[in-house]
Amino acid sequence: MKGGAGVRLGIMGGTFDPIHYGHLVTAEAARTAFNLETVLFMPNRLPPHKKDYQVSEAKHRYLMAVLATITNKYFEVSRIELDREGLSYTIDTLRALRAIYGSGAEIHFISGADAILDLLGWKDVDDLLALCYFIAATRPGYELSEQLQQLQEKYPNRVFRVEVPALAISSTDIRQRVRRGKSIKYLLPESVEYYIYKHNLYRMGEKYR
Ligand code: NAP
Repeated sequence: MKGGAGVRLGIMGGTFDPIHYGHLVTAEAARTAFNLETVLFMPNRLPPHKKDYQVSEAKHRYLMAVLATITNKYFEVSRIELDREGLSYTIDTLRALRAIYGSGAEIHFISGADAILDLLGWKDVDDLLALCYFIAATRPGYELSEQLQQLQEKYPNRVFRVEVPALAISSTDIRQRVRRGKSIKYLLPESVEYYIYKHNLYRMGEKYR
């Protein structure tokens, strides 16, 4: 992990249950479009909006992220949120990253566009958007313009969008496919596919959403 003032850092925040090619293509698209030196994948421990339903164990989501990112020299996986007790508020993560990388770092938080719908309700949102840029990744056909416009007006030059065709792949769909015994080949790296089978993930589907 590189440090110091002025570093251009991408933070790929997500539950990653499991990580798939949509996430990887998004991170690479954001990296090249925003000239990021490193993209840090940040699996969350307990997402504030998912406290009422099952998420796979942190160790599995972390290891799948490590396996998936191993072939890209610009990608790293962080345990900051996994190792922090309680709900994973993004603002707490950003403050921790500022302490590590310094005030000169340009931090870009990358996440799914669906997440942006709730962004105004996130903890300390004004501070959050003062600490980082927000890059919303959209799936094909996803209509976001009104919300994005509102956010861009409220936070000028802080909120951007990147369109990613491969985001038609979704973690929810992959979990359902596993549960129904359908193929997940070519939706995610083979190493992650085998990890899922080896550890028998997503079979007890009722617990997941
Ligand atoms: P989610 O609600 O599961 O995801 C929303 C949508 O975005 C899903 O369609 C998801 O697809 C997609 N997505 C999620 N992360 C993505 C990424 N990095 N790149 C591209 N697409 C992505 O969202 P989540 O994964 O739990 O949360 C996203 C991030 O926002 C996390 O870092 C979370 O901690 C943070 N968050 C913070 C707060 C807060 O601080 N109050 C509240 C909510 C979320 P897949 O299901 O295929 O991933």
